[in-house]
Amino acid sequence: MTLLIHATLIDGTGRDPVPDSWLRIEDGHITSIGTGAAHRGDADVIDCAGRTVLPGLIDAHAHLGATDYLDRLTSGSRPEYAATVFAESSSTLRHGYTTIRDAGYTDAGFARAIANGMVAGPRLLVSNGPLSQTGGHSDLRRGHDRQPAVMFDGLVWTGVVADGVEQVRWAAREVLRAGAHQVKVMASGGCASHGDEVTDTQFTREELTAIVQEAGARGRHVLAHAYNPEAIANAVHAGVRSIEHGNLLDEESAALMAAQGTFLVPTIATFQLLSVDGREMGMSREQVDQIDTVLASAYTSLRIALDAGVRIGSGSDVLGRHQPRKALELELQARVTGTLEAIRSATSVNAEIVGRGHDLGAVRPGFVADLLIVDGDPAEDITVLQDPNAIHAVLQAGRITVERRPERTS
Ligand SMILES: [Zn+2]
Repeated sequence: MTLLIHATLIDGTGRDPVPDSWLRIEDGHITSIGTGAAHRGDADVIDCAGRTVLPGLIDAHAHLGATDYLDRLTSGSRPEYAATVFAESSSTLRHGYTTIRDAGYTDAGFARAIANGMVAGPRLLVSNGPLSQTGGHSDLRRGHDRQPAVMFDGLVWTGVVADGVEQVRWAAREVLRAGAHQVKVMASGGCASHGDEVTDTQFTREELTAIVQEAGARGRHVLAHAYNPEAIANAVHAGVRSIEHGNLLDEESAALMAAQGTFLVPTIATFQLLSVDGREMGMSREQVDQIDTVLASAYTSLRIALDAGVRIGSGSDVLGRHQPRKALELELQARVTGTLEAIRSATSVNAEIVGRGHDLGAVRPGFVADLLIVDGDPAEDITVLQDPNAIHAVLQAGRITVERRPERTS
């Protein structure tokens, strides 16, 4: 049994912080919460005076396996690639992330290695290869390449290319067979791909519907990369759980999402970071220009979605050297939603997105004790979440797996 005392508590539901809180943890779960004096009994006591306790952060759109710019992922040494992904996974945990919904490229083997305790890391929910139409956002082939439809070299998936209802059914079944927790589809063009524009739609509504059916048949959901209103409408009508990016969303598509209960996962951080050094990371000038265009509209589209009543999740979408910058997303999103809402998006809303709204992402009795203890108060200054030195401890299912400065009182 563990008892946290004298903590400022941010419970992840958007409620104001509660000073001088205590919480009791037994068998990996939070069993009770209160304020003021707590009965200690024989508990292991952690004094959190001057610190804030909040749910472990959830990134609903990360690419743990994207250790470099996508074009370079498959060209380097494979052992070094695997080592980098594992290093990234323990670093992500030290940065306060206890759950990652991976939006593609990362193989299920990495998730199993973490889940089996072989490597430190967050709960990793992978998509394996994103599904893409020929010439779509995850068809990374250049003009004369002749690669197979499943682009998987044994370590990294770059995409699964399929066209037509029959083929997309096969593609969804294929990534699920290989252990995907959810299915990622590319429903519009993107910034980093070579042959398409963010204004393009990709896959037909029939194809998207078939993919959602195949995922649903196994109790899984679909996340759809989509920028423009037509692509968003196609994906929402098909029944996807979340629209990723959504930078060109308008009032009409926002209203549709709100009516259908489709989540929006904005990913502002990656655009902000790539806008600064995308060229150094190997992007072309045209690609960075496209990044700048969608960065400018990211805040407007978030405001439109919020006003329409769309439920807002949180994703960083960071690649390569930006992997340690996931929590920048909270600061950027807070510019529109406010701090406590940005934290709610990255905890309890993201938990709902991954289908764990009943036991993850909030500090509540009965919930899994995935918790952060951070110096200071993120409600006052959300940037403390970007400083790993401010993260005093990370608990995964009640177990301290990251501890910066041991200060137990008993
Ligand atoms: Zn992404």
